[in-house]
Parts: sequence; structure tokens; C-alpha cells
Amino acid sequence: MRARAVEAAPRHVTSAHATLTLWEALASTVPAARGAVVLTVRGAAEDVAAACDAPLAASAAAALDELCERTGPTLATVLECTACGQVLDVPLDLEALASSAQTAHDEGDPLERRVVWESGEVVVRAPTTSDVLDALTAPDPARHLRERCETWPPGADTTADVRARVARAADDLTGLAGATVRSSCPGCGRDVSADVDVVDLLTERVTEQARALLIEIAELAAAYGWSQESVLAMSPVRRRAYLDLVRTEW
Ligand SMILES: [Zn+2]
Repeated sequence: MRARAVEAAPRHVTSAHATLTLWEALASTVPAARGAVVLTVRGAAEDVAAACDAPLAASAAAALDELCERTGPTLATVLECTACGQVLDVPLDLEALASSAQTAHDEGDPLERRVVWESGEVVVRAPTTSDVLDALTAPDPARHLRERCETWPPGADTTADVRARVARAADDLTGLAGATVRSSCPGCGRDVSADVDVVDLLTERVTEQARALLIEIAELAAAYGWSQESVLAMSPVRRRAYLDLVRTEW
């Protein structure tokens, strides 16, 4: 008797219903609030209003967990070198990204940092989705966001060093929501970096998965007259077997 290879099941099988529910929730929300939607759908916040008041870093961490469950630990991404235009394939290590965010989280208060110098103190608060939504209505959103999240003493006479420390504290509190990926360009040798928006990456992935599911449902409904619910109630294996039959007949 010989051992035969079997196709390994994905590490995490996300149900078709869960995929369609998440896709609908993401598609019916403005991009800036999608992280809050992920927190809510994953049960980490009571409702979207509560999730909007959670730190962006928490929404991004929830999106990263969801992405890992759907894609596995590595996500293929592409970057374009701004110097020579070459397109680079960059595998994004999601688990490393998650652990680096966790380390930053463990190093201090995830909600607030205090930058202290001889004559004053600045309190920096972690930005939330509500802060971003509000900032987007301002003429200079980045500045508005800083002003919302930083409390400076009146008439503070600050140095470049203090401003740099405040900026660093703000970056720490943004956490995973401000992640970047770096690579070296094989074409020109320069370093290439790009922002990594995990909520965007998750939205793209869930949209692709939902579209594939909707195509399967539509094909089986057209072929056999089955309802969406009965198609979704099948195991993925059975759904795939029926699809193979339909596609062979055609
Ligand atoms: Zn290059």
C-alpha cells in the first residue's frame, strides 16, 4: 500500500456566511470606518459606534488577525520602486507584523503617552476612527488629527527634540495602523518602502473571496434552481463537486 498525498485543508476555514457578512459590512461603510467594522464583526466591540472610539491600532490588529485567518501567514504584495519604476514582488510576513505591533503595545500604555521636559508635558492620545472621521472634514486632516490627539500646555516653548519625541509617541500609538513594508530594489539597489494598510488589504481579500462565492452561488442557482441559502449550507467540498459537474456539462 502506498501513501497518497491529500490536499491539505486550509489552516482556517472561514465560513461562506462569515465571508459574505463581512464583505457586505465593509462594502457599505466609508473606507475610514472599515477597521471599526472589522472590530465589530469579530465581536471585539459592542457596535460600530463603540468600535469607532477604539484606537486605530486595535482595529488594525483585528484586521490583521482576520487577514491571517483568510490568507495564512504570508501575503503576496507588490511595490513599485519610485526611483526606477520596477515592480517588486514582496511577500508580507503577517505574523512578523503582528508580533512587532504586539511588542510596541507591550512597551507602554496603548491609549496614552506623556512626553515630559523641564518646563512642561504633552499628553498624546491614541487616535481612534472617530478622530479620523472628524479630521477628514477639516481642511488639513493630518494637522487636525494631531490637534485632537495632543494636549500641549498653553504657550509651551518647545524644542525640536520635544517635537520629535511627541511625533514618536504619536507613531507608537498609531501602531499597526501606520505600518510600512521595506525592500531593496533589484533594479537600482535603492530602498523601497510603502505604507501597509491592513484594513485595505483585508477589504481587497474579502471582496475577492465574496465575489468568487457569489459566482458559485449564481452558477449553481442557474443550473439547479437552488436558493442562495441551500448553496451556502453545503460544505465547500460538496459545493466544489457540484460546480465541477456543472462546468463539465457546459
Ligand atoms: Zn528601483
